[in-house]
Amino acid sequence: MMPASTRIVAATGNAGKLAELRALLAPREVVAQAELGVGEAEETGATFAENALLKARNACACTGLAAIADDSGLEVDALRGAPGVYSARYAGEGASGADNIRKLLRELEGVAPPMRTARFRCALVYLRGAEDESPLAGEGAWEGRIAEAPRGDGGFGYDPVFFLDEYGMTAAQLGAELKNRLSHRARALDQLRAKLRRPL
Ligand code: IMP
Repeated sequence: MMPASTRIVAATGNAGKLAELRALLAPREVVAQAELGVGEAEETGATFAENALLKARNACACTGLAAIADDSGLEVDALRGAPGVYSARYAGEGASGADNIRKLLRELEGVAPPMRTARFRCALVYLRGAEDESPLAGEGAWEGRIAEAPRGDGGFGYDPVFFLDEYGMTAAQLGAELKNRLSHRARALDQLRAKLRRPL
């Protein structure tokens, strides 16, 4: 079993994600890749799982440490799964959450509410080293519908237009605590947590 003192590099620069990953892997020390001088991997995969693996492998290869990485995005049924792995750059490289939402609402103009079904997906990968042949993985999905206009100012990305029928509000109106219990990322973390309970 891996000693609790082993350092793990997290292939993310997002402070919120880093906090979640630290909680998942405690008491092991989790260090952000930027602190170790690791640059971001190119996300050239066709799936969230492939991109998470690319990010984790890059972080392992650059540091010699074990690594954890996640990749996530939004799948809209009326757009045949778009924006998918392009979620962050849907409205172009460097696009803001608001830019991406504007494009999404334009693409869905005239699509009736029952046809606006969508889900967030998250893939998480834990790699013991760059040559690890059996990575541990977790996946989660969160079902909702794309609203016709943004509502709420919490969360990030597409949250203001991700409407939850069962709560009658968007993910941006839920509050961080509830979102972090329901989200695709929480579900992926649960899956991975179960696998991490076994010896690494
Ligand atoms: P990445 O996993 O950091 O590459 O993020 C992919 C993109 O998916 C983000 O930039 C957001 O646009 C979107 N996304 C992923 N998770 C969420 C979420 O929980 N809320 C809103 N947007 C999200």
